[in-house]
Amino acid sequence: MSETSRFRSLEGGHGALKGAQTAWDMLSEEQMQKHITTGCEELDAILGGGIHCKEVTEVGGVPGIGKTQLGIQLAVNVQIPVECGGLGGKAIYIDTEGSFMVERAHQIAEGCISDLLDNTAHRLKDFPACPEILQPNSFLANIFYFRICSYTEQIATINYLEKFLEEQKDVKIIVVDSITFHFRQDFDDLALRTRVLGGMSLKLMRFAKKYSLAVVLLNQVTTKFVEGSFHLTLALGDTWSHACTNRIILYWNGNDRHAYIDKSPSLRSATAPFLITGKVYEVTRVI
Ligand code: ADP
Ligand code: MG
Repeated sequence: MSETSRFRSLEGGHGALKGAQTAWDMLSEEQMQKHITTGCEELDAILGGGIHCKEVTEVGGVPGIGKTQLGIQLAVNVQIPVECGGLGGKAIYIDTEGSFMVERAHQIAEGCISDLLDNTAHRLKDFPACPEILQPNSFLANIFYFRICSYTEQIATINYLEKFLEEQKDVKIIVVDSITFHFRQDFDDLALRTRVLGGMSLKLMRFAKKYSLAVVLLNQVTTKFVEGSFHLTLALGDTWSHACTNRIILYWNGNDRHAYIDKSPSLRSATAPFLITGKVYEVTRVI
């Protein structure tokens, strides 16, 4: 049998293997992988470039640490035009807590635009649509906002997303702020709760792969007293979050904010400091 005919017979005879990829394909895909910058150089560095497309990233942290700020920042940064090294995409923001502030999104968009004008001005001279695109209002127009008031609404919205994504092919990030909020009360059957949350994150994982977009699930952590010391635990544990490929924990170190990679198949555990300023997530130097 010639090489080609053997190959053909393999292709024809193994329907179940159709979806298989070679390790070489996987490596090339990984090298071409797209990232969304967090706006913080050191955080991008430990993440290998930023938040990964095609993956689900869970971001945990205590209230006030900056999860929502990061979510808004990513919804803005995903829109950085391709000409400036970004994805030129759109964002879906699913707000279960009511903490998305449009004024803050406007302010972050202004910060992002002024950074682009400062740092990539040389690339922008060949970019005719630049003046219209680089307006805070255009950034706001590309964030699709869903306000969710109950867990049934959350389940229904996630189920509806596939149809929405078919129509809006430019969406490159889905932020859920936060994934567990409505599941903390009003859910007596704990096993069912774990299954529903797990099913939701699996569905989001499928969207991430199918539409090459990033999924960011914000989640609260609480402190729990175990064996004489305090430990951070994710709200509702992590038994439901198998579909989350990466987990980042934001935490306080004295008066400084830090981010820690808690789980990732490809990145080593590392810590980076970050600042929230009027403009963006920024690097802070630890002295
Ligand atoms: P979480 O979602 O983790 O509960 P947030 O993302 O809402 O926390 O973070 C709130 C914090 O972000 C505030 O306590 C404040 O320190 C900071 N913050 C919010 N807006 C601004 C701003 N315009 N300028 C500087 N810091 C801000
Ligand atoms: Mg929040």
